[in-house]
Amino acid sequence: MKLPPQINIIVPLYNEEKVFNELFRRLQQVISSSKLLISVILIDDGSKDNTPNLIKDACLKDENFKGILLSRNFGHEKALSAGLSLSNATEAVFIIDGDLQDPPELVEEFYEQLQKGYDVVYAVRKKRKENLLKRISYKTFYRILNKISYINIQIDSGDFSMLSTRVVEQFNKMPEDSRFLRGMRSWVGFNQIGFEYERSERHSGESKYKIKGLIKLALNGLFNFSEYPIKFITRLGILTLVISVSYFIYTLIKHYFLGGVPEGFTALFFLITLFGGAQLVAIGIIGEYILRIFFQVKNRPLFIIKEIIENKTIKNG
Ligand code: UDP
Ligand code: MG
Repeated sequence: MKLPPQINIIVPLYNEEKVFNELFRRLQQVISSSKLLISVILIDDGSKDNTPNLIKDACLKDENFKGILLSRNFGHEKALSAGLSLSNATEAVFIIDGDLQDPPELVEEFYEQLQKGYDVVYAVRKKRKENLLKRISYKTFYRILNKISYINIQIDSGDFSMLSTRVVEQFNKMPEDSRFLRGMRSWVGFNQIGFEYERSERHSGESKYKIKGLIKLALNGLFNFSEYPIKFITRLGILTLVISVSYFIYTLIKHYFLGGVPEGFTALFFLITLFGGAQLVAIGIIGEYILRIFFQVKNRPLFIIKEIIENKTIKNG
């Protein structure tokens, strides 16, 4: 009987044929040089290139690798969830990106932290090697998120992390459709600790997160872990009422005691457009929450697994 692994390394892959061989090589090296029992779960997130075949080959070559092929592209966070749902590790899972931006070699160091009594060890980026615009947007986003969110989401930390099995168990129980793993990770609680590392550049290929995808992720972070935007609307509404009533009273006084001069058209125009705009923003923000309710109440499965690839042959020795 093969022993269950202590650690699962979980790697979501979307059109990563260019990186795959190097990834496979590095992971094999980590497994053979580590004293931990490690098995890897590779998730193909509906790639359109040769990634699924590469995954199949790898899993047939090396029994420490298991492949999951999703039926289509479900997105990074759901691909990860698929991997987590099939994890069979006895100690922890280690989540890394497939493009080698998160060095798999750190598995032992993360595990050391875990053994000190932590359930979540999340990587904190020392220095981002991405372009300035991306860096500034990330920084601003995390600062805003932490200001308005009802949980504390770690600054400058991505999905790269190690989770104990009991945290994974909780994750697998969370049915939410719009998944923001970093937020969910904070939400589960337990003892958590950051681990500083230097994030490398993508090994090859292009980032699969286009600006649109990043905005979607950011909005999921904002609207899934905060009630501030809705509260802000209410406050804005009250402020508007106060201003408009005061203005009304002021005009009345002016009319009866000072003799009224008709107010300018510009002011009227300005006010109408200003509050028209404010109302549209307000409706939009409410819409964001409703949209999430809409997707959630459908209660669809988060992902669909097309195929699981496992090499069941048991090696002697
Ligand atoms: N990824 C995925 N599904 C997607 C987009 C990305 O599984 O729809 C994977 C991708 O293959 C990579 C990881 O998620 O392993 C992180 O993606 P990427 O490196 O493109 O993001 P970035 O590092 O630029 O934020
Ligand atoms: Mg990347």
